[in-house]
Amino acid sequence: MILMKAKPLLENRRSFLKQKTEALIQTLGRAPRLVVILVGDDPASQIYVRNKAKAAQSVGFIGESYVFEATTPPQKVFEFVQDLNENPDVDGILIQRPLPPSFNEKEVMFWVVPEKDVDCLHPENIGLLVTGNPRFAPCTPAGILMLLDFYHLPVEGKIACVVGRSNIVGKPLATMLMARNASIIQIHRSTRNPADLCKQADFLFVAAGSKNLVHRDWIKPGAIVIDVGIHRDEFGKISGDVDSASVESLVSGITPVPGGVGPMTIQMLLENTYTAALNQGK
Ligand code: NAD
Repeated sequence: MILMKAKPLLENRRSFLKQKTEALIQTLGRAPRLVVILVGDDPASQIYVRNKAKAAQSVGFIGESYVFEATTPPQKVFEFVQDLNENPDVDGILIQRPLPPSFNEKEVMFWVVPEKDVDCLHPENIGLLVTGNPRFAPCTPAGILMLLDFYHLPVEGKIACVVGRSNIVGKPLATMLMARNASIIQIHRSTRNPADLCKQADFLFVAAGSKNLVHRDWIKPGAIVIDVGIHRDEFGKISGDVDSASVESLVSGITPVPGGVGPMTIQMLLENTYTAALNQGK
């Protein structure tokens, strides 16, 4: 059984990105700049936002985070984002989700200009992805594919089951797996008998946001399981959407939580920001 940790892959990838950044700074005359925006005081989001800015700094970028109160009118945040859109020294902008209910997600996805949309949520970027000509790859799905490559696990010709269909993980992940010639089963809240469908999967990707949803009865023996979920209990212990203890003896590979998909997501955010800066400099 392979425990598919991100660390062995990230050590090289981070230092390579740092080297490339040094060269890019020479060309641009400035460091790539990533701005992360949080609205509200969700404790988990606060940690994510800080970690993203810190990770950016660790490779030589300017990494900044801005926090607005949950009661901030959407127009005010929109204007802040517009200023960043127009600022030639800003390369990447990320608006952390979830947003307070006063924000209309269908509008917010248009706020960041596509060229700086390093989270890959703008409909133009999603369209480019679906039609096979991506500008950016959405961070979590791209990080997952990179993990599969590192552990030599090709999905071509295999059955891949994706639990979840969010715009940020489930939908783009299914698209990217299809582009690699996997056959896709997509599971969501209205799916009947999800365990029976998951049991057909050679590769099972779980991004439902429901702690320990997937257990032994959902797994085909020998399957590869990718756990995207992140849940923090009252003692700060982190676990995923998969009941890992119950499936470990059955699978041939599984990502740990923490230390699997999460760090890969951050790496891909940095790589997208690098690409955005490179494109701005052209
Ligand atoms: P979301 O809430 O936007 O979407 C969840 C999806 O799962 C929905 O499509 C829903 O239909 C489906 N779903 C929910 N419960 C289900 C059930 N019981 N059976 C079948 N389908 C079900 O969530 P999201 O933003 O995609 O995130 C999912 C999880 O992944 C969360 O725990 C989140 O914290 C985590 N996450 C982790 C990373 C990372 O880097 N590791 C990145 C993004 C999200």
